Amino acid sequence: MSDLRSANLAKYGFSTVAVHAGQAPSPKYGSVMTPIYATTTYAQEYPGEKEGFEYGRSFNPTREALEENLAALENGKFGITFSSGCAATSAVVQMLKRNAKVLAVDDIYGGTYRLLTEIFEQQEINSIFYDLTKEDAGEVIKKEKPDVLWLESPTNPQLKVIDIEKLAKVAKSIGAIVVVDNTFASPVIQKPLNLGADIVLHSTTKYIGGHSDVLGGALVVNDENLNDKLRYIQKRVGAVPSPFDCYLLLRSTKTLALRVERQSQNALEFAKHFSKSKATKRVIYPHYETHPQYQLAKKQMSHGGGIVSVEFDATTETVNKFLKNLKLVTLAESLGAVESLVDHPATMTHASIPKEEREAVGISDGLLRFSIGIEDINDIISDIDYALSKV
Ligand SMILES: *Cc1c(COP(=O)(O)O)cnc(C)c1O
Repeated sequence: MSDLRSANLAKYGFSTVAVHAGQAPSPKYGSVMTPIYATTTYAQEYPGEKEGFEYGRSFNPTREALEENLAALENGKFGITFSSGCAATSAVVQMLKRNAKVLAVDDIYGGTYRLLTEIFEQQEINSIFYDLTKEDAGEVIKKEKPDVLWLESPTNPQLKVIDIEKLAKVAKSIGAIVVVDNTFASPVIQKPLNLGADIVLHSTTKYIGGHSDVLGGALVVNDENLNDKLRYIQKRVGAVPSPFDCYLLLRSTKTLALRVERQSQNALEFAKHFSKSKATKRVIYPHYETHPQYQLAKKQMSHGGGIVSVEFDATTETVNKFLKNLKLVTLAESLGAVESLVDHPATMTHASIPKEEREAVGISDGLLRFSIGIEDINDIISDIDYALSKV
């Protein structure tokens, strides 16, 4: 039974860890599944005698099981969970002192961009953005000397692949903390701590949850000092997930590898099919030969992931007509779930970026981001082909 604690899991494969980590059967009842501990407080033997279990914001057994599970999936020692991905992002930035500098990838998740430029800018945290796929990325890091290097790979919706190992090494040489938002890849595909990252961040709302029914965020670290700081913020700020959310996520991680592998297979077929279509100008997929960082993507990612971005030679009007004719693929924000979704970045997720700026970074009106689910891929392809035939 003790093998099911994360400390002893190193010898097991990913899916074994996903099913078991943090989830030893209860010693009292032998329940195989971790119960939803819906309690906000814990009985104390004597006043002031602390067992570590005093109050639900500081500790919850279902949450602890999830934190051990997620830490094991990322090959890390400590997991710290939050009520959303943005709450996890905030916790990292709240750890910084006034006048700290964050250098982030330019194609960063929109919610992270807004947190950095709108909320934390006011608290005198300075953020700068740069295309970290460029040849001179290392020199820029050395010149700017940020306190935090904030990476995301693949990015959204351009699916740029950033060389995590290379840039983490440069960041370490100047003493910067390296954060990698691993939401798009998931720990099935890439493990940033193995590549030199200090903090891995997830919006567990996406692949880890995988069923579009729970919001959540997580950080995974190896360093005890970082864990103490982040856990302090988790407790004090209080953006913690509910026991029920933790239960849903524990349920989800058991099938994470199955889902991501199927989503990746489907996405690759989807990318191949639409690369041949006359309607498309550009198909972006990390494990497809035409991707600008194809070699790096093959090296850094075990699968290509479930996201495919496609640029159609079309105006927003034509795109709308196409979207209206989809029967299976749903027009919605978010990604990473079992059902296929499509997003129109120009009018949805990236609408707050001015048009010229958007187009300069490759987000044209004809660009669509597909999050491919686990359905039968022929049905998804037929659905798109049918909608294309109507425009
Ligand atoms: C969704 C997302 C987030 C934010 O997570 P929420 O759970 O929506 O708060 C952060 N980073 C990436 C890459 C995301 O896709």
